[in-house]
This record gives sequence, C-alpha cells and structure tokens, in this order.
Amino acid sequence: MIEALRNIGAYSFKQKGINTEENLVEILLDEVNKGGNYAKVYAINFEETEAGWRYKDVSIEDWDRKKTSKYLYREKGAMGAHYTPTARIAGNNEEHVRKTFENRVEKWFRRLKKEHEKFLNDSLFFKNLYEAFIKEQENIKIDLVKLRMQYEDGGFITLIFYQAGEKKYLGDIDDFIEYLLEFSQEKYNEISSDGVCCLCKKESRVFGDASPITFYSLDKPGYIAGGMKKENGYKNFPLCFECLLELNAGAAYMQELLAFKFAGLRYYLIPEVVYNKDEILEEIMNIYYSFRQESEGKVVLSQADRIAADENDILGLLKDVDDIVALKFLFFQEQSSKFVILLLMEDVLPSRLRTLFTAKQRAEDHLIFKDLKFSAKLIQDIQFNYGVLRKLFPTIKGFMEIVNKTFKDQKIDKQFVMALIMDRLRGFFNDNRYMKIEVLQAFICLLFLSELGVLKNTGGGWEIRKMKRWRRRLWTFGLNGFFKNSAQP
Ligand SMILES: [Zn+2]
Repeated sequence: MIEALRNIGAYSFKQKGINTEENLVEILLDEVNKGGNYAKVYAINFEETEAGWRYKDVSIEDWDRKKTSKYLYREKGAMGAHYTPTARIAGNNEEHVRKTFENRVEKWFRRLKKEHEKFLNDSLFFKNLYEAFIKEQENIKIDLVKLRMQYEDGGFITLIFYQAGEKKYLGDIDDFIEYLLEFSQEKYNEISSDGVCCLCKKESRVFGDASPITFYSLDKPGYIAGGMKKENGYKNFPLCFECLLELNAGAAYMQELLAFKFAGLRYYLIPEVVYNKDEILEEIMNIYYSFRQESEGKVVLSQADRIAADENDILGLLKDVDDIVALKFLFFQEQSSKFVILLLMEDVLPSRLRTLFTAKQRAEDHLIFKDLKFSAKLIQDIQFNYGVLRKLFPTIKGFMEIVNKTFKDQKIDKQFVMALIMDRLRGFFNDNRYMKIEVLQAFICLLFLSELGVLKNTGGGWEIRKMKRWRRRLWTFGLNGFFKNSAQP
C-alpha cells in the first residue's frame, strides 16, 4: 500500500516535471490560496536602510499563482507558526486577524530566537530582520488589522522586502530558502532516528510519524486501524525524507483523483503495477483521466458498464485492462474528521472485475427482469449492482464482508443470504407494501452470487442436504407463485 502510493507520488512529480533533488523547495510548499478563499496578499513591508532593515508599512495585492514559490508557504500544524511567516488569515473579524498575526507570525519570530538561535546568529539578514520586527511588532499588528478590516477580503499574511528599489518576496531571499530546507523536516522529528528506509532501502535519517494516513497499521496482516502505538511508527515503517515527500504527494493525488463511490460508500481505488512501472502506470492513469472526462459528461458509459451502483463507477473501464495491475480498494468513512477504514481489499485483478461483470450480465439475462413497472411512469429492467445487494444488509460491516468475498472469490453461506432476503421481504410483507420489485431485486442478487460461483451450502449430512434441496424447491416454487400473483400497486 505504502509502496503503491509512493509510486503514484513519484509519478505525479514526473507529470509535473519535477523531482525531489532539484525541486525540493517547490515540493515542500503548500498552496496558500486554498479553494480560492485566500486571494489577497496582506503584506508586511520592510525596507533596507543604511542602518539595516526597517518596518515600512502594510499593503494589499492580489494573489498570483505564479508566485507560489515566492510566498514560500509551508504548513506545519493547526496551531502555532508554520515554517515561514506566511500564513492564511483564519476568520473575518479583528480578533481573527490579531490571533493569526500572534500565532503564526509573532510566534515564528519567537521560535527563530528560541529554537533556531544559531541560524539567526549566523545570518546577518535574519538578525537585522528580527530586530526590525521586534521593535515594531505592536504597530505592525495595529496596521495589519486596520488594513484587513478595510478591505474585508479573505487572504494571507506574508513579508515583502524592498532592497535598493527592488521588491523581494520570501522566496527571493536565500536565507529564507536555506531556513526552510534546514527545518522543514522538523514536524516529523518527534519520531525519527538513523536507519534504513523501508521503501528505497537507503540508509539515512528516517521518520515514523509521517504517513498521511495511518498506513503502517494497514500494511500489517490483520490490521486494526489506529491500533498501533504511534511512537513505534518508525520501527514499522521508517521512511527517508525523499520517500516521505513522494508518499505525501501520492496521498494528495489519491484524495483528489482516485476517490470513487461504491454502493454509496466512499473508497479510494489505488492501482499498483509491478512490471515496467512507469509505462503501465501511465496507461492506467490515462484510464482514470478518461473516466474523469466521462463523469464530467464528455463521454457516457452505458448502464451495463456499471456495477457499483454509482454514476461515479470506474470499474467498468478497468475491467478491460490486462492483469498488469493489481487494484487496492480502500473503503473509508470520515467521522468528524477522523479517518475510519471500513475495508482494505488488495490485489484485485482486472480479470476478476470481468468475472463480476459477466456474472452480472448472466444474472440479468432472464425475461422476468425485463420491463418492470417501478412506478406509474417508470418502466425499466431490473439490474444487478452492489447498491441493490447492499439493501439486504442491515449493517455496513456485513455488506463489506460480502463485497470482499465476491471480489476475492471466497465462499458465502447460502443460508445466510437466504435469511437476509427473507428478513428484508418479511418487513415489506408485514407492512403490506408493494414488493414485486424488491423480490426480484433480491432474486437477482441471489442469481449474481450463484453465477459467480461463490455460494455454498453449509451443513454436511445427506439428510440435511436433502432437506435443504426440498426447502430450496419450495422457496423457488413460492417465489414463482408470487411472481404470478403479486398485486399491482
Ligand atoms: Zn526512502
């Protein structure tokens, strides 16, 4: 899992034409104008005089995408200073602006003095700037709050320097670049040591508490999400800084482009290619891209190509790929910003998807499923998809187990499925509701599982088998009788 994501991260760097050696600063930076909500630059301006740097004034300008490497924005944590004194202003009132300045800018200077004093003393620029800031920080705060209140636009704070008539941003100052590079690993330092990176096997400083998602618990057999002690993270999955950056990029890529829905549940579909990596990954990613075009309405997939019961179903495209890629399905829920993993299903080959689609087609290929009256105006065929199957399950956990078994070709207890169907239909029956569609949908699920060859009868002896056959016949008979006599709504 980690490896697959790292490879995707490396791929995304290549797509952008960057690499961790030459473009480290670029890679380290975060987008400051997130979601377009921080489109103004509230600049604290300093100018160089003969006596050194001096606070000049505050000013406002428009955010510019081309200046990303100039703002030098890199997040550190939810609280306190980031890696540089560039910070988004959270909130809209005076108090918010004041707090942002105190927590993100003042604290950055305080940390420079307290924790990075050696760096401060070694840099004439930083020494000068520090003094200029401390001398005027109360005035800067007042000016900044006033400016922000005057313009009312969302934005971020940064520093700008005027040196011999030339305007310079943080990213134009070598001392700031050096500072960023030196301390950018700091947020991971809590859990680090010298060791061997588990991905590239190189010996270097390795970090443990670094995975964007708690993957280290995921990669253990019989994982329990979050069940592993954080402090032991690096012992299980020590990562060097380079791999860590790629992994982070892979996770960001996954969240943006590999997210789909399956029977109403969210999941990430992560491809892992084994041979001839770059070329094949490129091929697979092109399928993801063309799918995105489809979901944006440029191409339309037919119903037959859907099995996940969702418009957003890429599986119909991936089923036609050769078995050069293994798919990982990471089903998850986000509960008040907590990431909960429902199921990780690994090593699903495209050929297995084809088998699932074939079983779907065969299950649907019966006259009783054609031209059904869903409502007064809606007449259509009954189709199998996992959304229909999910309706049989009172819990997500139970449904996930069945999903896993169908994708992994594991046996499912037929009596268990029958009991689920009966429970569901009994509810409809008791409420006196129209149930023809429900019965047929339950039936098509059963046919799907049967066509897939995953149903098994539990129980052993001849007597029991005979009894079950008898019951089965009775059930089928009852169902057929029902089809003939069912009342119309
Ligand atoms: Zn590494």
